[in-house]
This record gives sequence, C-alpha cells and structure tokens, in this order.
Amino acid sequence: MQQTTFQLTSKNYHSKEANQHYMSVSQFKAAIQCEAAMIAELKGEFIRPLSPAMAVGSYLHAGFEGNEAFCTYLQNHHDSIFNMKGNKYADYLKADEMMETVRNDKFCMFALDGEKEVIMTGDLFGAEWKIKVDSIHHQQGTFTDLKSIQAFDKRHWSEKYNAYVSFIQAHDYILQMYVYQEIIFQNTGRYYDPYIVVVTKETPPDKAILHFDSARFGFEEEYVQTMLPSILEAKQGIKKGHRCGKCAYCRANQQL
Ligand SMILES: [Zn+2]
Repeated sequence: MQQTTFQLTSKNYHSKEANQHYMSVSQFKAAIQCEAAMIAELKGEFIRPLSPAMAVGSYLHAGFEGNEAFCTYLQNHHDSIFNMKGNKYADYLKADEMMETVRNDKFCMFALDGEKEVIMTGDLFGAEWKIKVDSIHHQQGTFTDLKSIQAFDKRHWSEKYNAYVSFIQAHDYILQMYVYQEIIFQNTGRYYDPYIVVVTKETPPDKAILHFDSARFGFEEEYVQTMLPSILEAKQGIKKGHRCGKCAYCRANQQL
C-alpha cells in the first residue's frame, strides 16, 4: 500500500485537503454524476449547495453520536434548526420523530450499537480511500450505516444498472457497503457484516434493517475498478473532467 503523508482526523475529514488526498464513496459518486463539478469542488471553485435532505441526514447522525456530540451540533447549527421563537423548523421536528422511531426499536439500536463515526483509510485499485463508518462493532464483526429516505416503495431510474431500481441501488448503498467492507478488512484482517438502518420521512416514519450479502459486491467491485481510472486522471489534472451539462456547476459555467 502507498504510504500516506496526510494525517486524517475527525476535524479535517471533510476538508478540501483531505478530499484532494483521498478518494471516498461520496467523491466517487459525485464524479460519476459530473467530474467537472467534483474537480471544481476540490479546487474550492464550486460549493455544492446543501440540500434540506443532507442537512436532516447530518442532524440524524449527530443524534446517534451521543448527548455531547448532539448538543455541540445543535449549538453549531442553531440558526438553521430553530426559528426566531426558539422552535424547531418542520424538517427537524420530522427528524426528531424519525430519531424516536429508531430509538424505540430494539433491533435498530442493536444494529447501531458500537463505536461511532470510525475513520479508516485503505487502498482500492491504486487510490487511497477514506471512510467514516457510522457504527462499527468489533466483537460482533458488524458495521452499520444510518440512512433516511422518502419511502421504501419509490422506484428510481438508474443509468448504472440500466433499469428501474429501489432506493438501495439508486443511492449506491451496495457500492458503499462494498468499499467499507474492503477498507475495514484492510484495517482489521476480517470481513465484517454490513448493515443499514433505514428510516423513512413518512408520517409516522417506517423503518428497516438491511443486510447485504457480499455476493452482490462483485458487480460493485468491477464498477469501481472500471470507473476509477478516469476519475483519478481528472483529479491529477491529466485530463479534463467530463461535464454532465445538467448540474448546478455546469449550468453556472456554460459556454455556448
Ligand atoms: Zn455537471
């Protein structure tokens, strides 16, 4: 494995420098959508707008990180969570309901038990990758990610699979679990069992625990291996990143 010179911590995990040094699942997914936007983001020339769904997702995660982490999160994001009267905005009241749904379920809490927000690095197809696992349980040999989605039955068109797919494929959860399992293996010498706890934004929220059979990882492994070289070349400036022509970055930087 390539020797790293970057000291990755929870403070700099999402920094531009960390993203320049490492590949990650979210960077890989962003590059598949639009390499040009991903590269501009790395250079600090483009800031991806934070969607309400992403904001609620990070709020949910903070809620399961423990009281101290959640209090700090509430302080740091006070103005986007609370209105002038000091009440939470509707999105966050909904998120509280989702949090309760997960907390009141023994199996969900069992799956989320373990060390939280664990950072690891490893090598996949000649690139250094970083991962941050929501929850990892070394004795059980399991790791779990927490996800919030609209609803279970919504179908999404996928160019990757060339078919209508469920939220699992649409959000590339299988790819994420494959990468996490492999990097965790490189760090522990053991293939851990991947789980995802999913909670929906419906009223009342629905929930599920998904287990991923690693038989499904072969396709994802091949996909990463196939797509990664082009992304790395764009990152290293060897070639120009492809433009999707549709995203916020492409629309703002369109030359007719
Ligand atoms: Zn684009």
